[in-house]
Amino acid sequence: MHSQGTLYTISAPSGAGKTSLVAELLKRTPQLSVSVSHTTRPMRPGEEDGVNYHFISHEVFQQMLGETAFLEHAQVFDNFYGTSQKWVESELARGEDVILEIDWQGAQQVRRLMPETIAIFILPPSREALNQRLTGRGQDDDSVIQRRMDAAVAEMSHYVEGDYVVINDDFNTALADLEAIIRGRRLQLDKQQDRHATLLSALLS
Ligand code: GDP
Ligand code: ADP
Ligand code: 5GP
Repeated sequence: MHSQGTLYTISAPSGAGKTSLVAELLKRTPQLSVSVSHTTRPMRPGEEDGVNYHFISHEVFQQMLGETAFLEHAQVFDNFYGTSQKWVESELARGEDVILEIDWQGAQQVRRLMPETIAIFILPPSREALNQRLTGRGQDDDSVIQRRMDAAVAEMSHYVEGDYVVINDDFNTALADLEAIIRGRRLQLDKQQDRHATLLSALLS
């Protein structure tokens, strides 16, 4: 027997480092998965369909919306993004903790639908650092970077909707912060009662 996994949303302005942090977190943490979103955004060099995203056309996106396939969806910049409801529910049901790397609009929708969701915001150490990271990633052209910088303030203003705020200045410190959040949740009473049911009944018999 195990309880449902915990659902986390991780939101951040583009370039704050959420994808790199989550990738490293997954390598170090058992029973944790990240949802692969569906998007109409063009694939970047090095991205792989089904790994970074399920890359789909506008038509397929609309069709999936009609079939209520998405737990949440949002338009970010010119592109549509959505999270597969079926996949998230089946992972949680088998006791996996699940991360959604989604924008604030999506985080709000998920919070409304599943109030026990834990919301994390990641912020950069400065605007200059954010600009440098977006440029340094080398995958978006100048006009895209400018639009993402313009949108960053709007995204960051939603940090107050988070349960946790992590500043990604030193990468390994931010990573340790994320690990602490997950570890803390796993140590809470309800989770420990499930994980250690045999021990607890033996100790008290
Ligand atoms: P990056 O964050 O700079 O790597 O750029 P992306 O194109 O990968 O993502 C752009 C924005 O879309 C980010 O704010 C993501 O959090 C958001 N996003 C990605 N997937 C989803 C999703 O499934 N739902 C929602 N609501 N937002 C998403
Ligand atoms: P996001 O998914 O939030 O858009 P990425 O994970 O793609 O961000 O990170 C953007 C860029 O910043 C990448 O080139 C990444 O290697 C770099 N980066 C991430 N975290 C840090 C950090 N703490 N210090 C310096 N560079 C970082
Ligand atoms: P489809 O896009 O046709 O719904 O799913 C294709 C495959 O991707 C299936 O194996 C399905 O389980 C998986 N899949 C669908 N949506 C998601 C998602 O949001 N995240 C992940 N990781 N896998 C998904």
